[in-house]
Amino acid sequence: PKKNELTTPDLMLEEAKALIDSLPNWKCIDTLKVPVESLEKKNVFGSGQFESLQKKIVKNPNISAVFVNVNLLRGIQRKELTTAFRVPIYDRYSIVLQIFKERAKTREAKLQVAFAEIPYLRSCLVGLQKGSKGDGRGSATIVGDGESYYDSKLHLLERRELKIKKELEKMHKKRALLKYERKKREFPVVAIVGYTNSGKTTLIKSLTGDSNMQPQDGLFATLDVTVHAFKLPCNLTVLLVDTVGFISNIPLNLIAAFKATLNDAMDADMIIHLQDASHPDKENQIAAVNDTLKQLNIDSAKPIFQVENKIDKIRPENVSASCLQISAQYGTGLEEMIELIQTKLLEVTNHKLLRLMVPSGSSEYSWLHKEATV
Ligand code: GDP
Repeated sequence: PKKNELTTPDLMLEEAKALIDSLPNWKCIDTLKVPVESLEKKNVFGSGQFESLQKKIVKNPNISAVFVNVNLLRGIQRKELTTAFRVPIYDRYSIVLQIFKERAKTREAKLQVAFAEIPYLRSCLVGLQKGSKGDGRGSATIVGDGESYYDSKLHLLERRELKIKKELEKMHKKRALLKYERKKREFPVVAIVGYTNSGKTTLIKSLTGDSNMQPQDGLFATLDVTVHAFKLPCNLTVLLVDTVGFISNIPLNLIAAFKATLNDAMDADMIIHLQDASHPDKENQIAAVNDTLKQLNIDSAKPIFQVENKIDKIRPENVSASCLQISAQYGTGLEEMIELIQTKLLEVTNHKLLRLMVPSGSSEYSWLHKEATV
C-alpha cells in the first residue's frame, strides 16, 4: 500500500482483492500484510515469513501467481520473489495491465497495452544482471560481438518500444481526422466515469434493461469502451459510454498509454461521475477519479455531474443532499437522473440536436438512419 493517511490498510487490502477478482478466472485465495517499510526493501518479506510463504506457494498447485500491492516492484525484488516462489509475481502496474489486456479488443488498444508493458518488461530485465553473458542455456549465441545478454535484450526492447510508438502515432493522427468527421454527425454522448465498483455497469444495465433500450457493444468499434444506445423520453437517442473503472494510484504510464482512447471516450457532451455513497473511502475515491480526469486533460468547461449511487445502503440520516442520489440496483432516483441527462443535454448540445432532427431521406443524413437501427 502507498502511504496515505486517509486510506486504511484494510481498505487497500479490500481493493487489492477486488482488483484480482475482477480478472476472469482469477481468484484471490489468501492475503498477507507486511509493514509498508518492507515494501521498499530488497527482501519484501521477513525471513521467517518468507520461508513459510515459500513452502505454502510451492506446495499449493492452486497458487499460480503472487500479487504484491505496490505500484511497480523493483527488478531485484521481482527477481528474488520469482526465483523463490516459482510463479509469476505481479504488482499494481502489471495487474492493471492485465485487466486492460483482457479489455483490449482493437489493434490500437492492444498496441497501447504493449506500449505500457515496456516499463514493466524493463523492470523484469533488471533482474538479469547487467553484463551477464546469458543464462547458460544457449541464449548467449544470439548475442552480437561484445554485447552482453542484458544489453542485447534491452536493445530489443528499445527497438520494440520505438516501433510501437511510431505505429501508435500514425493511428492517432488518423484518429484525430476520424474524430473530426464523427463529431459532425454523432449522437450526443454521455460518458459514465467512476471508481471501479461504483456501479457503472449496474446503472447502464438498469437504464438499458428496459424494452426501449438497445444495449450495444462496439458501436464505436475503435474504442475499447462499451457503448449503449439509450432513448430519452423526448425520443432522442443518446450514447452511454462505459469507461474503464478508475482506481487510485493508477500507474501514470498506463494513463498516458490510454490517453488517446480515453480522451476519445471522454469527448462526450456530458460526463456523469458515479460515486459509491456507501463506501467508507468515498472521499479518496472521488479524489482519485478527479485526479485521473485532470490527467486526461478533460476540458474543465465540460459539464461533469456528480451522482451518488447505492443510497439504499446508507441510513436516511446520512444521506446528504449535495447532488443527485440514486440506487442503480433498486431503481431509486433513475427517473430524476434521466430527466437531468435530458435537460442538460438539451442545454449543451442544442445545435447538434437540431441536426439530428432532420427528416429521413436527406442523403446527407442517411448515416443516421443506418446507425440508429444498429
Ligand atoms: P462498476 O465496476 O462501476 O461497473 O460496478 P458494478 O456495476 O459492477 O457494481 C459493483 C457492485 O456494486 C456490484 O456488486 C453491484 O451489484 C453493486 N451495486 C451497484 N449498484 C448498486 C446499488 O445501487 N445498491 C447496492 N446495494 N449495490 C449496488
